[in-house]
Amino acid sequence: MTNRTVLKSQRPFLYRSLASYLREVFGRTLRKVPIDPGFGCPNRDGSIGADGCAFCRMSTFVPEHARGDLSPVEQISRARKGRKPEPFIAYLQAGTGTYTTPERFGDLVETICNLPDVAGLFVGTRPDFVDGAVLDTLKPWIHRKLVWLELGLQSANDRTLQRIGRGHGLDSFTKARHLASERGIPVLAHVILGLPGEGPEEMMGTASYLAEQMIEGVKIHHLQVIRGTRMEEMLRSGEVTPLTMDSYPALVAGFLKRLPPYTVIHRLLADALGDLLVAPQWPEREKVIQAIRRHMLQEGKWQGRLYEKGSV
Ligand code: SF4
Repeated sequence: MTNRTVLKSQRPFLYRSLASYLREVFGRTLRKVPIDPGFGCPNRDGSIGADGCAFCRMSTFVPEHARGDLSPVEQISRARKGRKPEPFIAYLQAGTGTYTTPERFGDLVETICNLPDVAGLFVGTRPDFVDGAVLDTLKPWIHRKLVWLELGLQSANDRTLQRIGRGHGLDSFTKARHLASERGIPVLAHVILGLPGEGPEEMMGTASYLAEQMIEGVKIHHLQVIRGTRMEEMLRSGEVTPLTMDSYPALVAGFLKRLPPYTVIHRLLADALGDLLVAPQWPEREKVIQAIRRHMLQEGKWQGRLYEKGSV
C-alpha cells in the first residue's frame, strides 16, 4: 500500500466540495441559476461610494439570461428555457441582493421560493447591508428550502478592505455573520487570494478568521484583473502582482488546512472572463483544480488539518 492510498483511506475527501454537500442534502447536484435582482450597488451609486470595489466590473456578474429589462422571474424562465424541469437553486448574484426596502426584498423572496422547482435560494450581498429584518425574511424558509447568505468579505484585513475600496470593515462581516447564526442561516464568505498588499500571511489570516467564525461555507477566488477596473490601474502601476499558477495550489491548500472540516467549499478559483481578463492568464479551470488536488495529495494536506490540531 502506498502512502497515497493510506492518506486517501484515512479521509473521505481532500475538501468538502459544494457538489458533495448537495449530494448529501438532495442526493444529487443542483444547478444554480444566477439572477440580477436589479437593486444596484451602494458602492457605485454614491450611497457608500461612487467608484466601486477596485476589482469589480459589475457587468461580469450579470449572466446572459439576465440581460435586458427582465424581472427575476423572467430571468429564471429564460435561463431554464429548453431544459427539462428539474430542481434548481436561485441565486441573487448581481449587485447587492439586499439593497432595497424590507417589503420589496420580502416580496422577491416569497415570489422566488414559491416558483416550481426552486429547491434553494442563495442571497449574495454586502455584509453592511444585512440586518435583522433581512434575515427575519429569510428565516421562515430555512426548513423548506436550502437558504444560504453569501457575503462578500474578500479579506479579513481592514487595511486591504480600505485599499480595494470596499466601503466596509471586518466588523460588518462579523456582525452580519453573528445575526445570521442566531437565526440558523448558513453563511458563505467570498474571499479573494492575491489582493494588493497581501502575502501568504494575510491570506492565511483570513482563513484563520473564518475558522474562528466557524463559517459554514467559503468561495475562494484568485484575483483576476478585469479590463476597465481600478485594479487594472494598480496592475499598471505595480501596486499589485497577479498570482502565478505555480504558487496557487499551495495557497489554496494552506487556506483549506485552516478551515473547519465541515465548511463547504463552494469554489476554488474565479471564473474565466474571456476578453475582459487582463491577468493572470491561466489554464482552464479543471486543470487548476486538478493541480490543487494533486498538490494536496502529494503533500498530505487536507481541509481542516490545522484546524483539528487547534493551530489555526
Ligand atoms: S463587488 Fe459588489 S459591492 Fe463591490 S462594487 Fe461590485 S457589486 Fe458593488
